[in-house]
Amino acid sequence: MGDVLFQDLWFHRVEGVVVESVIPDGELVVVRARTAAERAACPACGTASVRVHSRYVRRLADSAVGGRQALIELQVRRFRCSQQGCLQATFAEQVDGLTFRHGRRSAGLQTVLERVAVMLAGRAGSRLAHALAAKVSRS
Ligand SMILES: [Zn+2]
Repeated sequence: MGDVLFQDLWFHRVEGVVVESVIPDGELVVVRARTAAERAACPACGTASVRVHSRYVRRLADSAVGGRQALIELQVRRFRCSQQGCLQATFAEQVDGLTFRHGRRSAGLQTVLERVAVMLAGRAGSRLAHALAAKVSRS
């Protein structure tokens, strides 16, 4: 039941993500989640693949929850491209609205931080971002 609430809170705009647990840990709230889609599209050729190559955990800082920093530990899969001759042998799945390639923050937090950076350059932005309980550098 709690997981349904957290599912709605965190991923109401994200499809294909299942929350497995939400654990308060000191200053952190750790949200463990995994992807649920059966297949993923190769970013190079667009061919959908169901051939899972490997799994790993991505850690994404998310916006603050009740003054605690949220950390999403999202288990994602690496797929083999099923298109013969595609140069992209394997690729990691992306979750629209949550992850972006090589990103270590959730897409929502990234958007907030980009706005903060534009509005307030340097230290002020860093302080405000800190107030949002996100670990960011002045750059
Ligand atoms: Zn491909």
